[in-house]
Amino acid sequence: MTREHRQPEVNIGLVGHVDHGKTTLVQALSGEWTDQHSEEMKRGISIRLGYADATFRRCPDMDAPECYTVDETCPDGSDSEVLRTVSFVDAPGHETLMATMLSGASMMDGAVLVVGANEPVPQAQTAEHLMALDIIGIENIVIAQNKVDLVDNEIARENYQQIKQFVEGTVAEDAPVVPISAQRGVNMDLLMQAIEEQIPTPDRSPDVDPRMQIARSFDINRPGTTFDELMGGVLGGSLVRGRLHSDDEIELRPGREFEEEGQSEYRSITTTVRSLQAGNDLVDEVGPGGLLGVGTGLDPALTKGDALAGQVAGPPGTLPPTWNSFTIEVELLERLVDGDEIEPINTGEPLMLTVGTATTVGAVTSARENECEVNLKRPVCADPGAKIAINRRVGTRWRLIGVGTLVG
Ligand code: GDP
Ligand code: MG
Repeated sequence: MTREHRQPEVNIGLVGHVDHGKTTLVQALSGEWTDQHSEEMKRGISIRLGYADATFRRCPDMDAPECYTVDETCPDGSDSEVLRTVSFVDAPGHETLMATMLSGASMMDGAVLVVGANEPVPQAQTAEHLMALDIIGIENIVIAQNKVDLVDNEIARENYQQIKQFVEGTVAEDAPVVPISAQRGVNMDLLMQAIEEQIPTPDRSPDVDPRMQIARSFDINRPGTTFDELMGGVLGGSLVRGRLHSDDEIELRPGREFEEEGQSEYRSITTTVRSLQAGNDLVDEVGPGGLLGVGTGLDPALTKGDALAGQVAGPPGTLPPTWNSFTIEVELLERLVDGDEIEPINTGEPLMLTVGTATTVGAVTSARENECEVNLKRPVCADPGAKIAINRRVGTRWRLIGVGTLVG
């Protein structure tokens, strides 16, 4: 199926427990399969999270919800009208990839929480992902009750009650629950209607300085490429505001590490935008929404293997400060997803912090009642007031224990 590509205007996260059908749902709506890493690598820009765009349309002579479709042709043979293109960010469900999910959350304007109707609610990552949406402050949520083809009416109703009970008191309390079968394409129109109503495209002021959160970086050259054929380093990520143009000059922070007399220091990098890729298209200008590939004049050795993931880019002189240590105001969750109580943060303990698309480990140098100071292993670029997901090592894994706000 070929569909005309349009630049997406809104990013929607697909979250939920592993195997509940996130990837199948993205495929049903977009005709693309986000798990195909080799294809992703060829396109060069899609991020580890996996993503695919879908253009939502409506048939002008039909009523809701049946009018909603992703097909260009309506059942009566007429052409459907484009509503908008959305970009789905397909978060992995495995708990070890929680940090990836959290860095994706900073690029999400809303989320679809996928819940399998054939299992008790909540499964571990259903709970953990909802908690993450809650603390990151993603309020526009639709719940897709998937795999209804596997259960009878009574179980589906019971499962629905469990979902409603589970989201009570959370950010998803009023989210609509739409029964679907992603695999069979059942109720896709209803789900699209719910997404259109619950997850509006945010107001984007076009006049502010562009700012990009970098989620990946690459060297796209084949081994053995000669110097004069070498392509500059490529950045993948999302614009959070403003518009970026080819030939724009950009600064990257924290930048690159320099060693001087045994001291390490990060200095920002400046480069030029040489090409812009949105979806599969090369464009001259791009705004927020969807994932973006930026060809730069950087030495590809600098961008290789996600070396610049987590950094922030924008016009020189407009970026937030770089922090080697900071104070965060801490709000701990009451308990872990599995019910264990969460102890206060201790001085000296290591924490894993996600700030925007950056994930960094830090040591707590001073822990007080609602605040702690952290020395970061790798610095981050962020505005005071930025939300920080706080993870603690429990046993062999990092677990989400709360949310912080960058004080300064
Ligand atoms: P993810 O881990 O959440 O991305 O889940 P996947 O999309 O990979 O789906 C996991 C499995 O569930 C796959 O075998 C799918 O074919 C299956 N699946 C997904 N949606 C449905 C559905 O609506 N009905 C049924 N019966 N199976 C489904
Ligand atoms: Mg998947």
